[in-house]
Amino acid sequence: MNPQTKHNSLAHLTFDNRFVAELPGDPEMGNFTRQVSGACYSRVLPTKVSKPETLVYSKEVADFLDLSEQACRSGDFAQVFAGNHLLPGMEPHATCYGGHQFGVWAGQLGDGRAINLGDVINRKGERWALQLKGAGLTPYSRMADGLAVLRSSLREFLCSEAMHHLGVPTTRALSLISTGEQVVRDMFYNGNPKVEPGAIVCRVAPTFLRFGHFQIFSARGDLETLKKLLNHTIRTYFPHLGEPSRDVYLAWFEEVCRTTATMIVHWQRVGFVHGVMNTDNMSILGLTIDYGPYGWLENYDPDWTPNTTDSAERRYRFGNQPACAFWNLAQLANAIYPLIGRAKLLEQALEVYTQEFGEQWQLMMSQKLGLSRYDSEQDDALFADLLTLMESIETDMTLFFRRLAGIELGQDDLENNSHSENLIASLADAYYVPEQLTPDYVASLIEWLKRYQRRRLQDDVSQVVRREKMNRVNPKYVLRNYIAQLAIDKAEQGDYAMIEELLELLRYPYEEQSDKEIYSAKRPDWARQRPGCSMLSCSS
Ligand code: AMP
Ligand code: MG
Repeated sequence: MNPQTKHNSLAHLTFDNRFVAELPGDPEMGNFTRQVSGACYSRVLPTKVSKPETLVYSKEVADFLDLSEQACRSGDFAQVFAGNHLLPGMEPHATCYGGHQFGVWAGQLGDGRAINLGDVINRKGERWALQLKGAGLTPYSRMADGLAVLRSSLREFLCSEAMHHLGVPTTRALSLISTGEQVVRDMFYNGNPKVEPGAIVCRVAPTFLRFGHFQIFSARGDLETLKKLLNHTIRTYFPHLGEPSRDVYLAWFEEVCRTTATMIVHWQRVGFVHGVMNTDNMSILGLTIDYGPYGWLENYDPDWTPNTTDSAERRYRFGNQPACAFWNLAQLANAIYPLIGRAKLLEQALEVYTQEFGEQWQLMMSQKLGLSRYDSEQDDALFADLLTLMESIETDMTLFFRRLAGIELGQDDLENNSHSENLIASLADAYYVPEQLTPDYVASLIEWLKRYQRRRLQDDVSQVVRREKMNRVNPKYVLRNYIAQLAIDKAEQGDYAMIEELLELLRYPYEEQSDKEIYSAKRPDWARQRPGCSMLSCSS
């Protein structure tokens, strides 16, 4: 579309709120905390804020919503996406869902601080749901305040856009708006509450439906609403599956298994740890959703989770994400079981996840290593041995794979160790503690590199082409935990320039961007134990 045909006024957005129109709503209009039964949503108005100011917006998201730069820079934009002003066609509502939190059924949760404004239909006919996160109390707020603070909103805004540019399925973010309100948070739940600046992110996705939306009706034995919701979901977001029927329900579940597997493989590829993989944080579209205490692996450690709330059990640690997704899918299977009635069929469908995850993971690892294909005879051991090596001393995952792409061993190197010092020097940057590079370790690493080089030589691919291919799946720039924290520190002082700078950087995560080298640096020592850098809580 040429820029002239973009909307300069937000009032020209077209809404079609099918969720509200087709599904049962809560008859109660008051905004007070309650259990809501027999309804998929409650109507609720965003709470007005005193001084909304747009800190940053995503031009790509604005683009597919057909919004011009002028519209995004208008004062009205901040008013609308802070929830102060409703556009014609908006029908604000909070949805009802439940979930298993850390493995335990938690009953009704729901949009406690997310308010859906409605679905925009863009000029291409695509449906995009708009949702404000942090726009005030809803009937699902339970004991909390319905608000969000600047630090967590900035993290969600930047990371969800970064994930998109990395090629990871995710919800998007249109805007980050400061509200002018003060919000009290006890960041580590240790009796030290502090006042923090409030903010609101406008999230955008085809739908924000989660596994927990289906679980709540099943748990309550409300099969009528469960069926209505599933039929609506299939007709609206999975029309290619055909008219709802038992077979189509199964096909739907299989598709959720497949897209979830794809999402998890991407997380493992880029070193993303979600931190709170509760079933209420699992999208039925296989999108990364709810950016809370997430983090990026710096040194490769499958046991790592940034979430201090999970530090004892580490249920949602990096290496456990694939298994957690399976467990969550099994809960979704349980939820729709009453509509299917045959456990065997659901068990078979669940196998789709295991199968897909396995195959996609092998392919992903082959690509990370620049191999033309996965060879079941040799590659499992090659992958496993590399990961063991990376784990056994502090190895920066992101830097390691970029450096590996540049390495080539000649015939000489394969036969003797004459160049091993050079080889290690070209990887040195990826290591946090040089003393850990003991002669034994170096010998094992060289051994692995030789095997890897022999494996590479089975492909008829030049080193230049291989490097290029590897650099397309191994990012140079991710939103390192300490870098997000630096942007937060500045933003809390009223300096927002770094948000814009990081947004631009993370648009091209696979490019060299030589003037931005500093953002590819491994975690500095000061960030090792600093809250926000290596440790985060659910307080947001
Ligand atoms: P989360 O841990 O962010 O996935 O949230 C779990 C549940 O708590 C969801 O129902 C959220 O809507 C709700 N919740 C989280 N933070 C708040 C808050 N500040 N105010 C109201 N509800 C919240
Ligand atoms: Mg959540």
